[in-house]
Amino acid sequence: MEKILIVDDSLMQATQLKSILDDEYDVTLAQTAEDGLRRVNEENFSLILLDVVMPGMDGFTLLKKLQEEIVTQSVPVILITSLSDAINEQRGLILGAVDYITKPFNPLIIKARVNTHVKLYSYRRQIERQSMTDQLTGIANRRKYEQYSATKWGEAIRLHVPVSICMFDIDRFKVYNDTFGHPAGDKVIAAVAQTASSRLQRSTDFLARYGGEEFVALSMGDSSGKMFQHLREIRQAVEDLHIPHDPSVAQWVTVSIGGVTVIPEMGNAYDFYLKVADTMLYDAKKNGRNRVVWADEKLKQLWEKR
Ligand SMILES: [Mg+2]
Repeated sequence: MEKILIVDDSLMQATQLKSILDDEYDVTLAQTAEDGLRRVNEENFSLILLDVVMPGMDGFTLLKKLQEEIVTQSVPVILITSLSDAINEQRGLILGAVDYITKPFNPLIIKARVNTHVKLYSYRRQIERQSMTDQLTGIANRRKYEQYSATKWGEAIRLHVPVSICMFDIDRFKVYNDTFGHPAGDKVIAAVAQTASSRLQRSTDFLARYGGEEFVALSMGDSSGKMFQHLREIRQAVEDLHIPHDPSVAQWVTVSIGGVTVIPEMGNAYDFYLKVADTMLYDAKKNGRNRVVWADEKLKQLWEKR
């Protein structure tokens, strides 16, 4: 059941709306804008019905706050009001409300409008998910990665937590493709993605296909020592898949991994650290592949001896 939030200081009005929508939706009531804001940050709602006139924070102010936050800005908001004048309606729509309903309520019209916006929102989320997913591997694609890294970098600066940026790719992949063909190469990419993804499952982990046989992973909160160890395990897990490579270059399919852990500060550029991770990957390649090279918080290199 899709969840709907009603934010309205009048309990009578909120209860009336709830009874109209109760049979099709899981409806939550909030009697102040502050309470509404708190609930929106705790749960995923598919639609918000928002009263404009409330004591304390009013509906317009709450709407503006919802629009400013990435997590809430796409949730459709329908404003409820008795202010049926055009100026307020215009203001609500400019602020980002998807629709406007005026009192007294017509249950059939409310139902129809709510159904329409919940459906549109669900369709939109589906499209968004598809546009952010790599088709071959099912993990995030580069587009999602760009969005995610920008958001998380800002968050890490604000919260002063370590960020680890990791780049890795499949060793001698061109040779693999030339020997076994592209469909087999695709299977290897998918297998490596699956192996890495199953070990990067925490809510603070993120993995994306960067392009071709290249991947990028981000993790928040861990020290360089912990990440270095964790990535060595992932490297080993790929080797342990025992996917035969072209014997002229290697026995098994393996990956080289480079990365950096940093506690970013205001003014630090993400791209600089991505470049560091890429340089570590280059060093791993240059020194025999199938290994992890990491840069710690002081940009000192950690080498996996193999
Ligand atoms: Mg009111």
